[in-house]
Amino acid sequence: MPSHDESPTSQHHPLNAETFRRAGHALIDWIADYRETIASRPVAQLPHPGAIRAKIPTHAPEHGEPITRILADLDTIVMPGIVHWQHPGWFAYFPANSSYESILGELASAGLGVQGMLWSTSPACTEIETHVLDWLVHAMALPERFLSSGAGGGVLQDTASSAALVALVAARERASAFATDARGVGAFGRSMVAYTSDQAHSSIEKAARLAGIGKDFVRLIPVDATGAMRVELLEAEVARDRALGHLPAFVSATVGTTGVNAMDPVEDIARICRAHNLWLHVDAAMSGTAAFCEEFRFVTAGASHADSWCFNPHKWMPVNFDCDVLWVADRAELVRALSVLPEYLRNAATESGKVIDYRDWQIPLGRRFRALKLWFVLRSFGLEGLRALVRGHVAMARELEARVRSCDALELVVDAPLNLVCMAHRAGDEATQRLINVVNGDGRFFVSHCRFHGKLVLRVSIGALATTPEHVRALGDLLISNANACVSSSCASPAESTR
Ligand SMILES: *Cc1c(COP(=O)(O)O)cnc(C)c1O
Repeated sequence: MPSHDESPTSQHHPLNAETFRRAGHALIDWIADYRETIASRPVAQLPHPGAIRAKIPTHAPEHGEPITRILADLDTIVMPGIVHWQHPGWFAYFPANSSYESILGELASAGLGVQGMLWSTSPACTEIETHVLDWLVHAMALPERFLSSGAGGGVLQDTASSAALVALVAARERASAFATDARGVGAFGRSMVAYTSDQAHSSIEKAARLAGIGKDFVRLIPVDATGAMRVELLEAEVARDRALGHLPAFVSATVGTTGVNAMDPVEDIARICRAHNLWLHVDAAMSGTAAFCEEFRFVTAGASHADSWCFNPHKWMPVNFDCDVLWVADRAELVRALSVLPEYLRNAATESGKVIDYRDWQIPLGRRFRALKLWFVLRSFGLEGLRALVRGHVAMARELEARVRSCDALELVVDAPLNLVCMAHRAGDEATQRLINVVNGDGRFFVSHCRFHGKLVLRVSIGALATTPEHVRALGDLLISNANACVSSSCASPAESTR
C-alpha cells in the first residue's frame, strides 16, 4: 500500500468523496492481493501476547492522520496478528467463508448506512430480507410454514447464539401463558426447564442463563456413540421434571454438533415436544448449508415440527460474519414476546399491520442491512454454484475419511456425515495431541480438537472457499505419514521438529 509521508498538519481529514474513492480503490486492491497470495502465508502464527498493542501509540492521535498511513498499518500492525481463516489450509473450528460478493454486500450496507428496525426506516432493508429468506425456504426445501406468506417467516440475527436466545424467550412466553391457562396460576413458583444434548453448543446454556432459566434448569441429555441425543433419556427427564412440579418449556436439537457433527434425531424429539407442548428449536449452525443439496436433506429432517430453525450462512455458506437465519413457524409468538412500542416509533405503516418491523424479532432495536450480502451471494453463485461448493467439500471429506480408515495408526471417531472428519491416533490422546502439534506447526494447515466420550479428537473441518482436493490430499499425506511414524518410533515423530 502506498505510504507517502504527509505533514501531520496538512488538511487530509476527514475524507471527502474524492479521497474516499482513491483510498477505497486502494483498499479493494489490498484485499484482492491478500486473497491472491494468502496460501503463501503460514495459516496461524501467533505473536507474543501484547505484541500488537506495543506497536500502537498509548493515546489516540490529537491531529488526524492521512488515510494512506492508516491503511499502511494494515500491513505493519494488523497482519502480524491475523489468523488466516480464508486460507486454503484452514481446517480448524468451522469454515468462516467471506466471498468477494459478500464483502461487496457488506461494503454497500456500510455505504448506505441505514437502520432497518422498522419497515418505514428503510423498506428495502426489510423487504429484501423477507424475500431472500423465503427464497432460502424453497432452495433448502424447508417447510412452507416458515414462509412469510403464512404464519411464520425468517429473520436475520447476528449469530446462532442470538437466535437461540430469541427462540428461548418466545418459548418462555408461551410456557408461562400455557401454565396460567391450564392451572389458573402464573408460571411463578414453577421453574422452567430447557433441554439440549451434552454435545450442544455452549450458546444454548448461555441463552438459558440470560433468559433467567438458570444453569440448574438446563438438562444436558447424554448422547449415543454417534453423538446424537438419546431420546429415551430426554423423555425420562421431561417426565421427571413434570413430576417434580417444574415446567418443561424448551428443547434445542442440534443438527451437526460443534464437536463431531452429530445429528440429533429431530423427528423423535419433535414427538416428545408435541406430547408435552415444548418449544422445539433446531440449531443447524454449520450443517444447515448442506440442505441446498437434495442428497443431504437429512439435515432438515423434522423441520416441519420445529417452532424455530436456524443456521449460519456465516459458516459454510460464503457469507461473511455476521449472518444467522432464524425461521419461526408462528411469528406472532416472537412478536408477542419481544415487542414494546414506544411513542417515538409509532408510524402509519406499522399501524396498518401490512408491514414487518424486524425490531420485534430480535433483541436490539437497531439493525443493519445484513440481507444485502446474502442476496449478493445467492445471486452471484446461484443455487447451482452453492450446491457445487457443498458437494465439493463433502467429496474432499469422503476422500480423507477413506484414507483415515485405511491407515492402521488412525481411528475414525465417527462416520463423517458431511464435511467434518474426526480422527484419533490409536496409540491414545498423547499421540493424537502430537499429531495436532505436527499439523499446526507445519504452517500449511490448521486443525482444531474436541473431546468426545472422553477421547481427544483431531477435527478436520473442510469448507474454506479456497480449499481444493489437493490441499486436503496434502493434509492427508502429512497426517498419515506422521501417524505411522508415531507408531514405528514410539511416537517420536521426526516432523515434530518443524515447529
Ligand atoms: C458455531 C455454532 C454455534 C454458535 O454460532 P454463533 O453464530 O457464533 O453464535 C451454535 N451452534 C452450533 C451447532 C455451532 O456449530
